[in-house]
Amino acid sequence: MAKKKIVIIGGGFAGVFAAKELRRKMGKDADIELINKDNYFVFQPLLPEVAGGGINSSDAITSLRLLLKNIQVRLAEVIDVNFDEKVITVLQGTKRMPVEVSYDQLVLAMGQTADLSRFPGMTEHALTMKYMGDAFTLRNHVIRCLEHADVAQVPEIKKRLLTFLVVGAGFSGVETVGEVKHLIDKSLKFFPNISPDEINVKLIEFADRILLELPASLGEYAQKQLEKHNIEVLTGVGVNSATGTSAELSTGEIIQTKTVVATIGTGPNPLVEKLGLEMQWGKIKVDRCMRVPGKEDVWALGDAALIPLSDTPTERHDFAPPTAQFAVREGKQLGLNIRRVLNGWELKEFAYVSQGSMASLGASKAVAEVNGIKLKGFMAWVLWRSFYLSFLPGFVTKMRVFLNWTLHSFVPRNISLIEPPTKAATKYVHFRKGDVVFDRGMIADGFYTVIEGGFELDFKDAETGKHIHREYGPGQHFGERIILGRDKRTGKVKATEDSVCLWVARDDFKRFAKGFPMLDEYFKGYIAEKFGEEAARPKKD
Ligand SMILES: Cc1cc2nc3c(=O)[nH]c(=O)nc-3n(C[C@H](O)[C@H](O)[C@H](O)COP(=O)(O)OP(=O)(O)OC[C@H]3O[C@@H](n4cnc5c(N)ncnc54)[C@H](O)[C@@H]3O)c2cc1C
Repeated sequence: MAKKKIVIIGGGFAGVFAAKELRRKMGKDADIELINKDNYFVFQPLLPEVAGGGINSSDAITSLRLLLKNIQVRLAEVIDVNFDEKVITVLQGTKRMPVEVSYDQLVLAMGQTADLSRFPGMTEHALTMKYMGDAFTLRNHVIRCLEHADVAQVPEIKKRLLTFLVVGAGFSGVETVGEVKHLIDKSLKFFPNISPDEINVKLIEFADRILLELPASLGEYAQKQLEKHNIEVLTGVGVNSATGTSAELSTGEIIQTKTVVATIGTGPNPLVEKLGLEMQWGKIKVDRCMRVPGKEDVWALGDAALIPLSDTPTERHDFAPPTAQFAVREGKQLGLNIRRVLNGWELKEFAYVSQGSMASLGASKAVAEVNGIKLKGFMAWVLWRSFYLSFLPGFVTKMRVFLNWTLHSFVPRNISLIEPPTKAATKYVHFRKGDVVFDRGMIADGFYTVIEGGFELDFKDAETGKHIHREYGPGQHFGERIILGRDKRTGKVKATEDSVCLWVARDDFKRFAKGFPMLDEYFKGYIAEKFGEEAARPKKD
């Protein structure tokens, strides 16, 4: 059998476990490549603990290269798949150059994304809990609120800073609210001007009870535990909208707060949406063997896929749920199925029954249902920790998490405010004579205004085929066609002398133009005048 190339998009639970199984079963018979936006694997169930400062963010992740021995790891973002040519386009490198990667078998494991667009203001102002950066940001945000509240002089501002809302009382909402409250409680002794009764933490759930995934008795116990730690639990209430200083509930009540954490609202991964595959509930439809219908060599699994668990699925519970527990089993089964298809053997349908669920409540308490047995309190919490420790991939990560847990049982939480330098939306960029600013086919990253020096543009008119050459000096600009929705550069710009430009990031430039209609009109008129009416027509490349 000729060596086959198997490409996996996504380095979460589903992608990583599929890659490991493939390596184990295929030996040297296949080249396996995993493409991921980050070079590490995130153990998402531990994100609330990172937000609560119980685990350092760098200790709850594992390098993909460490996890995936003898597998090519590519740090890149996939932007397109051509199923006919069997080619994937990725953006990689510091210049985010588009590069093509071919495959014989393709595995789609890109997960889902947070989508709060249904709730006005939530996308802009709510914090989410999906990526490592989210957990890190939430921890910093809580500490910053305490810092500012400790010295606040206006009572309304202090109250707003000390009011924390977590929206959604599924596993991640309950665990997040418990951990945030624990972080606050353990840190208050360092903030002499904040009294514990000034802290106002609320958990908001639209359903009539919390933790719907668990039996009602465990949900009730969890609610009582949270309330015992002065977390107010509001059920049958949703959040309608948010601003930078308040949230409006479905009851019409406006709560003044600087903190809204949304653990609700998932949406399809933007790449998944773009692929033109059959979708349902924002997921790729697959057959019981996880193969995409009509595509012999394309598979999907994990949160990105809708995997039927019976031959006549209709309801949500007839499909594999979006959990790590399932994603791991799906990954293993998919690895076996790809080997089967390459050997011409019959495929096996995915079948798995959940072994149970657990939720940590903070303060050494948890609830769990394992194989029908209900557990709560300290024992459930010990089980929760033991299970996740055994579930963590890689010995090094297990050790790091274990040491974090042990250490944080004895020492106070670290309340240092570690702010990553904010990425400026504008910056000065220096070029030497001859440096290429961008070339044809590159992703349009931003807009450039010349501050000093000079540049030349070479551009071929798509309609007439005519070659256009332009020169730019101080005060002039280039790269403005992103305003029309262009994703890729159509020309090449080079510095003709040592020069300096002011660079404005793509999305900021677009937002700015949208907010200032005069600016938008100016650029559209400019493009039409300099490059012709065709070039000024809004369209995607
Ligand atoms: C806070 C939280 C707590 C949770 N707790 C539990 C729990 O206790 N138990 C449980 O079973 N489950 C839990 N889950 C759910 C579980 O984590 C998910 O079901 C699981 O992570 C799904 O795995 P996945 O591989 O399908 O997707 P993901 O883990 O989301 O991985 C997808 C990967 O694909 C990458 N990617 C996406 N698009 C591209 C692209 N275009 N190019 C390159 N790479 C791309 C992403 O960067 C990511 O690394 C929790 C989830 C969250 C958010």
